[in-house]
Amino acid sequence: MKRDILPLSTPKAKIDDESKLAFGTEFTDRMFVMEFDRKKGWHSARIQPYGPFSLDPAATVLHYSQEIFEGLKAFRRSDGSIALFRPQDNISRFNRSATRMCMPEVDEKFFLDSLLELIRLESDWVPKSEGTSLYIRPTMIATEAFLGVRPADQYLCYIILSPVGAYYKGGIAPVKIWISDHYVRAAHGGTGEAKTGGNYAASLMAAKEAAENGYDQVLWLDAREKKYVEEVGSMNMIFLYDDKIVTSPLKGTVLDGITRRSVLHLLKDMGYKIEERALSVDEVMEGAGNGRLKEAFGTGTAVVISPVGSFCYKDKCVQLGNGEPGELTMKLYKELTDIQYGRQTDKHDWVVEL
Ligand SMILES: *Cc1c(COP(=O)(O)O)cnc(C)c1O
Repeated sequence: MKRDILPLSTPKAKIDDESKLAFGTEFTDRMFVMEFDRKKGWHSARIQPYGPFSLDPAATVLHYSQEIFEGLKAFRRSDGSIALFRPQDNISRFNRSATRMCMPEVDEKFFLDSLLELIRLESDWVPKSEGTSLYIRPTMIATEAFLGVRPADQYLCYIILSPVGAYYKGGIAPVKIWISDHYVRAAHGGTGEAKTGGNYAASLMAAKEAAENGYDQVLWLDAREKKYVEEVGSMNMIFLYDDKIVTSPLKGTVLDGITRRSVLHLLKDMGYKIEERALSVDEVMEGAGNGRLKEAFGTGTAVVISPVGSFCYKDKCVQLGNGEPGELTMKLYKELTDIQYGRQTDKHDWVVEL
């Protein structure tokens, strides 16, 4: 498939002071777009000026949420070059999400090439300061104007870019986690392992209640027994329990995080035993109390690693250790960001240079 590059007339002004960059509030000059219909397949691929779409009010995505997305980052290295972290993994997950939501798959090579070309054109937008990056958001929506409930016949797929600030501005801060015994995120047979907007819409109420009560994040329990911890907001959870690494298995209700996968790989390299098993909320609460649970952290592209300071469940709060980020947690944060920013050799072939 060919890809057009449309002219850009007026570039936007960039934020000079990179310490003022937030998350997902600013977007670059250009975006990648392609369209799909059943007869033609994917067509009209182009890189065009960033701007609003015109959508029919009956577009399926607006009514029944046929939508998927991805999130990855481009990093500016000290020699000025730009690198991506495991982008093929994001694109293959995009296609798995597409299949689950009855949406068309993209050609993985064409999509990666388009992504790289877009970033090359927008390379001035990749910030330079410590901890900053260019956040990349591939998205697909159903655009057919039709109110019946069935997979749409028309789709729009696009990639937008957003320069983002360092997540941790005043050093890594541990979070206070609320374990929800009422709301659930994903049930067996549901859409928990797809990166689809509806999962997030359904999670907002619990996140709002958690925030109102002074908690930073919601830790979801399994929907069937409300007994086993699954994941947090947009992060997978990893625990250091009795000197072993414990994390929820990927059985359909937990998102297959690329940061999770990378951290587990690093931990295996360090010689840790990894148990992908159901961990009960009782084990978490008791373990934090009696010291068997030594460290816990969330993993996700936006934060990389987010240490847990305390867990709260049914009116009881327990602090983990002294409430400070654990030693292993900090070591993993450093290892992973060193690979991403090119401060350490990439032994695993995770980095794709532009
Ligand atoms: C995106 C996401 C994650 C983290 O995945 P990464 O690939 O590490 O960014 C975890 N949980 C949910 C629900 C997500 O949507």
